Order: sequence, then structure tokens, then C-alpha cells
Amino acid sequence: AKKSGKNFIQFYTYEMQLEILKRLQIENGLLYSVKNNELYMVYQPMYHCETKALRGFEALARWKYPGIGFVGPSQFIPIAEETGIIVDIGKWIIHEVLTKFMELQRRYQFSTIVSINISVVQMIDSSFVSMIKDVIKETGFDSKYLELEITESVLISYPEQIIDIIKQLRALGIRVALDDFGTGYASLSYLQMLPINVLKIDKSFIDKINIEDSMNQIVEHIINLAHRLGIEVVAEGVEKEEQLNFLLQHGCDYIQGHLLSAPLEDELIINQFLSLQNN
Ligand code: C2E
Ligand code: CA
Ligand code: CA
Ligand code: CA
Repeated sequence: AKKSGKNFIQFYTYEMQLEILKRLQIENGLLYSVKNNELYMVYQPMYHCETKALRGFEALARWKYPGIGFVGPSQFIPIAEETGIIVDIGKWIIHEVLTKFMELQRRYQFSTIVSINISVVQMIDSSFVSMIKDVIKETGFDSKYLELEITESVLISYPEQIIDIIKQLRALGIRVALDDFGTGYASLSYLQMLPINVLKIDKSFIDKINIEDSMNQIVEHIINLAHRLGIEVVAEGVEKEEQLNFLLQHGCDYIQGHLLSAPLEDELIINQFLSLQNN
């Protein structure tokens, strides 16, 4: 292709061609990922800051693409969003997670929160709320243990529509978390308008605790404001003891991060259930 003078591809570098090819390959592979059983979920525990008691788990998607290997969600989720495939994948995820947690609850007689990431494209799909209702009904999962994580960016594009959907979810007894807080454009004052239960402070903020003075103040401020609004705070991506200490000192409710646990593959979360049972 590089030799052909008339071919538009000549304007692309070899690396760019590879990128385009890879992207097409991912797009194509995603179409069959659900049907071919290539997607699976891992679960990262969230813990109470002070007592270290288990709060619940965040479900995170994984894709093993035959012939290509492991593709991370930061790579395939945006492509799934752009192509709209996320609607089907997202539905599979909710069904998979609720089925799994229902099974665990039955087996261990114990219930805990499970949090699922939801993309904007998925959320504004006209059948989103009824789909959730159907899956809850089908699996028998108690909606008060279901939490949905949405990012600030949804609010920029569709503020009224999203607030309405959040209200419908809350009416079903589902918790709603605002994810990656601080990375978007939503200002703190925006929070008052949002009927959310939980705010997750983005890892990029947590990373800078005790490194940038101003960041300590910002994190402290976010925690205080959230609490004043009756919103719980989860700090994500906690990797260091000193970050945990800072968060503990400033009243952060829950933490999630490699310091306490990386995401766990399926059967490993049973140990967490068992340790709860014995408490
Ligand atoms: P996120 O929602 O912010 O999820 C947290 C990410 O941080 C996860 O990456 C998690 O594995 C990682 N993480 C947690 N603790 C630590 C830590 O202490 N250190 C470091 N370095 N990383 C930590 P992951 O699983 O690669 O997911 C990346 C992003 O992909 C997620 O970011 C989320 O936006 C998206 N994603 C993942 N699963 C799903 C899904 O099922 N649906 C949708 N719509 N998006 C998903
Ligand atoms: Ca998340
Ligand atoms: Ca997050
Ligand atoms: Ca993040």
C-alpha cells in the first residue's frame, strides 16, 4: 500500500496504519465478544476507611480477545461507546454481575454492595431503566445492594435527562455514585442538584495527596462538602499508607485501591464473603 502513489494510505505513517487496523480489529472483535464468551468481570473491594470492614465491590470488565490477547477496558470501553456496542455489552455486564452476586448471596447468606460502571451512551438509551428493572426482576437481586457509577461527563451533555434517569433509578432503590470526581467540568456547586448517594474522588487527586499542598486542601474540601450534602465519599486508587492516613484523618468514608486490594477474579471474592461471615 505504501508503494501506490494514488492510495490515500500513503499519507499515513506505518504506525498510523497499524493503529487504524488495530482499532478496526477491536471494533470487529467487540461485536462478537459477548456471544463468544470473551468478556468477564473482576471485582475490586471497597473498604470502610476506619474499620477496614468491607463495603462492597466495584465490578470491572475484562476482555480476552483470541489472537490479540488481553485488551484493557480503558481501550475497549471508549470504542464500544463510540460504536454503540456498549448498549449490548453493558446489558450483559449487569446481567452477569447480578447473577453472580445473587448466587454468592444464596451460598453465603450474606449481601453486600456491588457497583457497576455505566457509560453515558448506555444510560441515555431509551430502554435503560426498564432493562435494569427486568434484570433485577429476573435475577431476584435486591436493588438496595446495587450501585451504579456514572461519570461527570454525562452531566455536561445531557443534564436534565440524566437527572431524571437518576431519579428513576433512586425510586427503584438503586444507589448512584458519581465516579472520577474532579476530572470533569462539574463544579462542586453542581453536586446539590444531583440526587446521588456516593462521590468517588478520582485517583489523580489521591495520587497528589502530600505531594501538592493545594491538593490536600481540595480533597479535604470535597469530603466536607459531600458530607454536608449527605453524600458518602469513596477515595479511589489508594496505593500508599500515607494517603490512607490523610483520608482517615479527614473523615473520608471508604477507600478502594491497591493498598488494600487489587481487583479480584471471580472466585477469589468468596474469601471476602467468608471473612465477613466469620466476623
Ligand atoms: P474506573 O471506573 O475509574 O475504575 C478504576 C480503575 O482503577 C480500574 O481500572 C482499577 O483496576 C484501577 N485501580 C484501582 N485501584 C488502583 C490503584 O491503587 N492503582 C492503580 N494504578 N489503579 C487502580 P480498569 O479496571 O483498567 O478500568 C479502567 C476504566 O475502564 C474504569 O475506570 C472505567 O471507566 C472503565 N470500565 C471498566 N469496567 C467497566 C464496565 O464494566 N463498564 C464501563 N462502562 N466502563 C468500565
Ligand atoms: Ca468506576
Ligand atoms: Ca473511578
Ligand atoms: Ca478513574
